[in-house]
Amino acid sequence: MTTDTVITRTETDLGMPDPRHGIPAAYGGVEADVAWAAEIKRLAKARNATILAHNYQLPAIQDIADHVGDSLALSRIAAEVDADEIIFCGVHFMAETAKILSPEKRVLIPDERAGCSLADSITADDLRAWKADYPDALVVSYVNTTAEVKGLTDICCTSSNAVDVVASIDPDREVLFLPDQFLGAHVKRETGRDNIHIWAGECHVHAGINGDELTDQVDSHPDAELFIHPECGCATSALYLAGEGTVPADRVQILSTGGMIDAARATHSKQVLVATEVGMLHQLRKAAPEVDFQAVNSRAACPYMKMITPAALLRCLREGKDEVHVAPDVAERARASVQRMIEIGNPGGGE
Ligand code: SF4
Repeated sequence: MTTDTVITRTETDLGMPDPRHGIPAAYGGVEADVAWAAEIKRLAKARNATILAHNYQLPAIQDIADHVGDSLALSRIAAEVDADEIIFCGVHFMAETAKILSPEKRVLIPDERAGCSLADSITADDLRAWKADYPDALVVSYVNTTAEVKGLTDICCTSSNAVDVVASIDPDREVLFLPDQFLGAHVKRETGRDNIHIWAGECHVHAGINGDELTDQVDSHPDAELFIHPECGCATSALYLAGEGTVPADRVQILSTGGMIDAARATHSKQVLVATEVGMLHQLRKAAPEVDFQAVNSRAACPYMKMITPAALLRCLREGKDEVHVAPDVAERARASVQRMIEIGNPGGGE
């Protein structure tokens, strides 16, 4: 990289536009070399900025960040660190959550077009209409939602505490659970509630990890343990397979991304199959280098996460773009739903 490096919006890196989901091309043309790393550090220091990276980010972005983690853990760090600016390397709703929890800081995302198919599966208008059909119900939203949807939510939840949050609600009260249908099915099964209505949203990346794929992988890796994120379409199949004895139940762990790191450090298995976005493998391999971590579906890469390229991060620090804004009244209501979540059980880190 040279100091006059041109940042182009190209179809290089992993930012190929995906016509199925209308995902735009990422900023490209910059190599993540030693000079790039030095320039990123210099600019971040000059701006008094802290760089946060989600577990699904490209390895080069994870390695340059001050903190790597899951969405809620990063938002809490954003609120606590002594910095003027937060550079949030993740998708837009995550940067919004950081802004909700630290309204006095300037929050930047290196490419504001980095969305999320799950968060986009329900809009604030959709939720208003759904609430009108069930006026007495309590709304529980997974953290993968926009600030506006959080502002219409009673209690947020993560994949770690979704069961505890729903179990804490009066059993006679109806519950609207959104937006992830697989996490909703997991919660319904665990709580045994009949009065829970589940929004039919899904993440196209996690939904692509299915039961057939899992069965094939389990058959060809008979000694491997399984780490499964409950948003995956395969979570139900994994529990079914465990119930059938196809996969011994003690080999299956349903975990948030933060929980996976803890489980990686604790495992005695030589090999672990991982059912979530492939970026997760980077931190798992760092946490337990002696364990062989393999993706259940090696094509499960989130194209939105991969829009935060080395070029996008450089542009962000040079130009102070893209700033994340949340209207103060929306932020106040959204903050209340996130705080209620933190009060109930261990929220872990969500995705
Ligand atoms: S992996 Fe799925 S849920 Fe996560 S950010 Fe990407 S599209 Fe959204």
